[in-house]
Amino acid sequence: MSLESTYTTLSREVAAADARLIAVSKTHPVALIQQLYDLGHRDFGENRAEELAEKAPQLPDDIRWHFIGHLQRNKVKLITPLVHLVHSGDSLRLLRELDRKADDRRIDVLLQFHIAQEESKYGLSRGTARELLEEVGVDPLHHVRITGVMGMATNTDDGAQVESEFRELHEIFRELKERYFADDPAFTEISMGMSGDYAIALRQGSTLVRIGSLLFGARNG
Ligand SMILES: *Cc1c(COP(=O)(O)O)cnc(C)c1O
Repeated sequence: MSLESTYTTLSREVAAADARLIAVSKTHPVALIQQLYDLGHRDFGENRAEELAEKAPQLPDDIRWHFIGHLQRNKVKLITPLVHLVHSGDSLRLLRELDRKADDRRIDVLLQFHIAQEESKYGLSRGTARELLEEVGVDPLHHVRITGVMGMATNTDDGAQVESEFRELHEIFRELKERYFADDPAFTEISMGMSGDYAIALRQGSTLVRIGSLLFGARNG
C-alpha cells in the first residue's frame, strides 16, 4: 500500500477512537516526513535528541515534535527549544533538568511507566511515581507541566497479556488523576500503542498512538 492510503486508513481509525496519531519518523529521512506533512499530518515522533535537532530545522515550523526515547540529561538542551511533548519522563532528575533548560517555554511531559514483563532500566513504578509527585508537590516544577502517562507493552503475540498491561496503564492514569491532578484539566494523555498493538491500546483508552513501521516500513537502524 502507498503511504497515502495507509495513512488515510490509519488516521481515520485513530480519530474514530478519539486518539491522536504520532508518526514515528526515527531513522527515516526528512523527505519522507515532508511527504506525510504534505498530506496534512503534523505530529511526528523521534527517539534520539541529536536526530531531532538535526531534522527539525529542515522541516516546517508547525510540526509538533514528540520525543519518545530515553532522554539523557546532557541532551536536554538540544530538544527543549523544539519539542511539543516529551513522552519519556522517567525520573525526577530529568524533569528538573527539563525545567532548568526550558528558558521561557513550557515543556509538557508524560510520566513513563514500566508496564511490560521485559526487563528495562527505564520507566516508573506506581511507587516511584508517587514519590516523584510528592516531591514535586513540595518543590514545584516551574516550566514543566505533567500532562499524562506513557508506557510500552511486552513485545509478544499474546494479545491478552498486552491488553492487561494497557489496562494497567489506564488504571495508573486514573489513580494519578484522582490523587494529584484532580483539579488540573491538562492531565489528559495516555500514550500507548505502536504498530503491532495500537488496536488493543485504542480499546483500552489510548489518547496517543506512536506508529512507525506500519506507516513508513521497516527501519534500517
Ligand atoms: C520506535 C518506537 C515506536 C514505534 O514503533 P513501531 O513498532 O515502528 O510502530 C513507538 N514508541 C517508541 C517509544 C518507540 O521507540
